[in-house]
Amino acid sequence: MILERLVVGPLASNCYIVGSEVTREGMIIDPGDEAEQILEKIKDLQLDIKFIVLTHGHIDHIGAVREVSEATGAEVCVHTDDAQSLKGWRMGGILGSSYPALPPPDRLLKDGDSIDISDLHFLVLHTPGHTPGGICLLGQGVVFTGDTLFNYGIGRTDLPGGSHSQLLNSLHTKLMVLPNDTIVYPGHGPETTIGAERRGNPFLRG
Ligand SMILES: [Zn+2]
Ligand SMILES: [Zn+2]
Repeated sequence: MILERLVVGPLASNCYIVGSEVTREGMIIDPGDEAEQILEKIKDLQLDIKFIVLTHGHIDHIGAVREVSEATGAEVCVHTDDAQSLKGWRMGGILGSSYPALPPPDRLLKDGDSIDISDLHFLVLHTPGHTPGGICLLGQGVVFTGDTLFNYGIGRTDLPGGSHSQLLNSLHTKLMVLPNDTIVYPGHGPETTIGAERRGNPFLRG
């Protein structure tokens, strides 16, 4: 599996580019900003991008969706409960400004859906809490967790639609049940593993 991480935008969001070594088909997870850098990387990797998958609808994860989807023709996929965010939204105190509406998503995701890219298969895990329609993508021994789980941290829940109890429920029922050696690629910061988080994440004890 081809897997590259780009750190983009003022909030240092992780944009992941995932592809099949067999067919060179791929997907982009969370094109948050810096479309040019993302498109350059795709060109270098010679990938044909089929899907743009959004872990959730916050601007720091979707800011480059328009440019990247127009350039690649890829299907934009987002959970039903976060689709509203693509219509243009104000991110409270974080960035403090509104942004123009994005094109409507091509595919609305729900828990249990699969995203298939030739030989690569990913399962959609609905993990509300940071946002109502937050998802994680599980497959090939890795899980992309967006702003649900970080290296020794968890997502904030003080933004509109956030819920701390829902987030903890998502973490315990969807992520902490995964094998310890599952590699975690979060929406911000370095990678970790489910085992390391189970042992050391202060928010997941007890
Ligand atoms: Zn977020
Ligand atoms: Zn974020």
